Formats: sequence, C-alpha cells, structure tokens
Amino acid sequence: MSKDLFDRASRVIPGGVNSPVRSFGSVGGTPYFVSRAEGPYIWDSEGKRYIDYVMSYGPAIAGHSPPQIIDAIQQASGNGTSYGAPTLGEIEMAEELCDRVDGVEMVRLVSSGTEATMTAIRLARGATGRNKIIKFAGHYHGHGDALLAAGGSGVANQGLSGSSGVPPGAVADTVVAPWNTIPEVDPSVAAVILEPVPANMGIVPPSEGYLQKLRDTCSDNGSILIFDEVITGFRLSRGGASQWFGVQPDLWCFGKVIGGGLPMGAYGGSADLLRNVAPLGEVYQAGTLSGNPIATAAGLAQLGLLTEEAYSSLEKTAERLSKGFEQVFSDTNFPAVVPRVGSLLSVFFTESAPSNFDEAKKAAENGVYQKFFHGMLQNGVAFPPGPYEALFPSLAHSDDVIDQTIETALKVVKEIKSKSLT
Ligand SMILES: *Cc1c(COP(=O)(O)O)cnc(C)c1O
Repeated sequence: MSKDLFDRASRVIPGGVNSPVRSFGSVGGTPYFVSRAEGPYIWDSEGKRYIDYVMSYGPAIAGHSPPQIIDAIQQASGNGTSYGAPTLGEIEMAEELCDRVDGVEMVRLVSSGTEATMTAIRLARGATGRNKIIKFAGHYHGHGDALLAAGGSGVANQGLSGSSGVPPGAVADTVVAPWNTIPEVDPSVAAVILEPVPANMGIVPPSEGYLQKLRDTCSDNGSILIFDEVITGFRLSRGGASQWFGVQPDLWCFGKVIGGGLPMGAYGGSADLLRNVAPLGEVYQAGTLSGNPIATAAGLAQLGLLTEEAYSSLEKTAERLSKGFEQVFSDTNFPAVVPRVGSLLSVFFTESAPSNFDEAKKAAENGVYQKFFHGMLQNGVAFPPGPYEALFPSLAHSDDVIDQTIETALKVVKEIKSKSLT
C-alpha cells in the first residue's frame, strides 16, 4: 500500500520524499509510489494505472520507457557506468546541442538543472567581473543559494519566499523583479536570468515583445542574458525557446529533456564566453559524473526522437488537451483558464490568466486545484501534486488518451460543482 510505503519512507527520508513537491504537501493526502511506467501511463505500487501528466516534470517528453531509450541505456551500461575520462558520447551530445541552438557554440555537461544555473551565474559573474544578478519572482532555477529567492515550483508550493539556511550574504546580490515588467538594469548587473516561458508558477507566458526588450536592455548595459531553458529546452521546438521566440540570450541552461530520464544538465553559449570556464579559464566548475556515458546515451536517443514532425505532433496533442479542458470549463460554467505555449500548459481555476507571480499566487491558492487534483487522481489521471506545476503531455499521449482525460475532467468538475452546491 502507498500508505505503508509512505510511512516507511518517512522514517528514513525527510518527509518521505527526495524532492518536496512529491510529498503531496500542497494537495494533501498520501503520494502514490510508482512501480513502473510506459507510454503515457504510470502504475502505482497497488497496480493501479494512471494517465500521467507529471512525466517526471518534463524529461519524459517521448513518453515513459520508449524502446529506443531503454535500448540505448542497456547498450551503454554494458560498457561500464562511469569512467572519469572523456567519451565519444559527450562529444555527440555537445554537437547535438550546438547544432540545435543558434548561438550555442560550446556547452559543458553537468548532472542537473541546478548545476547548470548555478554555474551560469558564476560564469556570468566571472566574465563580467560584476556581482549583481536579477531574477524574476515565481521563476524557479533549481536550489542554488543565490537563486533561492522568491522561486516558483516547490518553493512556491511550500509558501516559502526562499529557504532557511541561505545566509543573507548569498542572496545579497540577487535582485528579484516582477515578471512581465522591464527591470532596472544598469552596468553593475552581471546577469539577468529567467525562464523564457515560466513554467514553475503555472504557465505565465512573456508578454508580446518582452523577451526582445530584455535582450536589448542587457545588451545596452553589458549584462549577460541567461535563458534557463531547463524546461523549455527541446520541448518548445527543436531549438528550444530561443528559436521559438527568435530571441537569443548570451547563456543557455538545459536539463530535464536532454537526459532522457537520466540525470543530466548543460550550460552553453558563445565560444568566447565558454572559454572562461576551467580548464581554459578562471571560472571553476567540475563534476565526477558529468557527461556520464549512460546519461549521454539516453539523452541522445531521446533527442533523436525529437524531430520537426515530433514537435508539431506534440503541439497538436497539447492543443487538443487545452481546447478540451476549455470546452469542459465553459460548458460547466466553471471559472478556469488554460494558458499554453507550444506543448507547455497549465490550469488556473480563475477568471483570467495571470501575468505575474502575485496574480499566479492568487489564482493558485483558492483551493480548487486540490479538489480537481484528487478528483482526477481517483479517476485514474495523475496531475502534478501542486497548483504551480505545468502539465507535460508527451509524444505517447494519443488522441484517445487525451479524450479520456477530457471526459474525466468533465466528470470531476461536475462532481466538484454538485458538492459545493449541497
Ligand atoms: C527543474 C528546473 C531546474 C532545476 O533542475 P534540477 O535538475 O531539478 O536541478 C532549473 N530551472 C528550471 C526552469 C526548472 O524547471
């Protein structure tokens, strides 16, 4: 039983989980424990099947356990698991990322998105000789100290404005600005970091022309623009968000999709900028498992599946899902909006789509998401266990699976409405 497993886990793991959002803290109840996953489905420890929209929070873009990735992992693992010496797979992965993204000439592979953003900040500071960084409220960039101020995702779900244990000095040079407003950038600013499509406070897209304005503002001040594409990278398009919007940052951070479900992140940019990284330059960054041979094999196999056709099919799927939800909400007169960019979408139970974190918080904290989440879960559809997380439809979510999801949503909304009327 999940309950027994959760009790057992809670004795030896803080909160019973290895990443806070998994604990169901913001929706209540006991998390399901997953025993296996295939295509659009997960099965819990009791053998119950769910249509999954968590999808590992993004990495499983080709569906769970695609045979191409499983084969690649099996083949790679037969040659050993880690060497501490360079491998061909790392070159192929770096070449693939450089080929996909205009402006990325060199990349460094790391083992998580957090490492990628932490190092991008360090590199921006090292290259400019400046300390100050600007981030946006509700944007999540992993759990590095300097970026743990007013974050989205788990930080938002916990209602924390940052984290205990981060000394004031670590965030003293971090300025938090409201999203969709041009912040004050001056020549003391090393970097402006952002999610080009914020996906950790629900989906709150940039307003028209906003990213280009940020680009211009950074250029005018010699500040480095960092796109944290840990979610958008190779989800929005073959070249990620910079291709989607036609705006190039100076530094890119990647993660999630590029590891094919194994731990991998990367940061990249122009060769000039990346030459500041050790061993060529003075900015230090290293990793025992960086460029791990099994992770590069899995990531390359996944990127191999992500062709132009795959992206258009993925977007059609996401559109079917968002339109279906919108139909359900309007048919039932249930206040909700479904912001979507490409295959990224989320649901806010409110009248109008939020444009910044304050609005997103109001929309997320009215208690409706929790009811909807549990209704869906009981009926075999796993939404992310927090109102700030995005939905991640995959290549394995067929039209039938989407239509089942929509039918379930209709049933659940009707149930919620009938209960609140009595
Ligand atoms: C998930 C995420 C990160 C952190 O990546 P981890 O692999 O969890 O360390 C950073 N930035 C964004 C935008 C993310 O969604």
